[in-house]
Amino acid sequence: MSVVRKLWQRGQNLLPVTGFHFTRPLVLFQSDDWGRVGLRDHEGREELQAAGLVLGEQPYDFYTLETAEDVAALNSALKVHRDSSGRHPCLQMNFIVANLDFAKMSAENFQQILLLPLSDGLPQGWRRPGLIEAYHEGISDGVFQPALHGATHFCPVSMQRNLAGNGERARFMRTLWQAGTPYIFWRSPWIGYEYWDPEKPGNKRFLPAEIQRQIIGRTVGAFAKLFRVLPGSACAPGYRANDDTHSAWAQHGIRVAQSGPGSPLPPHFDRYGILHLSRTVELEPAVDANFSVETCVGRAEAAFARGIPAVVCVHSINFHSTVKDFRSRTLRMLDEFLAALESRHSDLLYLRDEELYELVTKGSCDAWNGRADVPQVKVIQRKFTRAEAARPREA
Ligand SMILES: [Zn+2]
Repeated sequence: MSVVRKLWQRGQNLLPVTGFHFTRPLVLFQSDDWGRVGLRDHEGREELQAAGLVLGEQPYDFYTLETAEDVAALNSALKVHRDSSGRHPCLQMNFIVANLDFAKMSAENFQQILLLPLSDGLPQGWRRPGLIEAYHEGISDGVFQPALHGATHFCPVSMQRNLAGNGERARFMRTLWQAGTPYIFWRSPWIGYEYWDPEKPGNKRFLPAEIQRQIIGRTVGAFAKLFRVLPGSACAPGYRANDDTHSAWAQHGIRVAQSGPGSPLPPHFDRYGILHLSRTVELEPAVDANFSVETCVGRAEAAFARGIPAVVCVHSINFHSTVKDFRSRTLRMLDEFLAALESRHSDLLYLRDEELYELVTKGSCDAWNGRADVPQVKVIQRKFTRAEAARPREA
């Protein structure tokens, strides 16, 4: 089986695919993990420390949850900037649309995973006044665009199996859950990602198509309840998506799939008509010890030189502030980054995922319709193979 799969993969890598290139510098922002709770602020930190955890080894120990103030500060920071058509940058916010329902789970001695949709509020012990309103405000201001990330982020099958095992792992999870924290990924990577179970053999790690379809259907439903629109773009937790994920996304109207950084491919379609976008710039000052704005600008320039969009990846942790102030530095760095791009490129355009989809399929975007002052962006089609694209490039 694995030999067949390897041959199939090799064939896929050699198959020419149509990539899309553009004659103007385009910038998109994709940001994961919004709405997902982590460490329950100072109170949760004290509880976990009393239970024997030493926190602070990794930035994600201090991943909490954005506050209304964090979201409003990001909104204001984006509104300072404009592209050559006068539009603000817009952050594609990928939401985790549910949290663990600690109150209900605790009543059952934490024997099973139960979810609380974000539209119904936050789990027991959590307070974030005005947060949902702050998301909506940024959406109506045109600086945020909600998109789909997932419902749990972790693999529910792996979590449930380990819970049933009642061993050390289950005990550790219950300690976190008592303190209102769902998980800290680096401390228990066996939890995997929503559609991907790391403890299964190599070719069985992705959950079966039917289970993925059920999860995605429920997630899209919870998203629609929260935002009153359907998601048009999606990013799989941990970037772990396969053909079955894409098929289920397409069935639910997703038109853009976001892929992680690595060897960025030009935007291209899959057999379900989903446009795939690779992230090209990592703007992650909270988690990258070697972070520099200069490197980010260099990555964006490298993307422009190839005629592909600069797709900026910035996770929500970078805007958190309650236990550790990640937000202040990120907003400064983001401001410098945007100012640098705007001063270097008088023809810069900020786009959203779905606008890039429009540009590729219709040759223009509704946002510019009737605007004679927005010069044309030419879309150029060029064939590439994944094997070619994976080769290292000259800087
Ligand atoms: Zn994520």
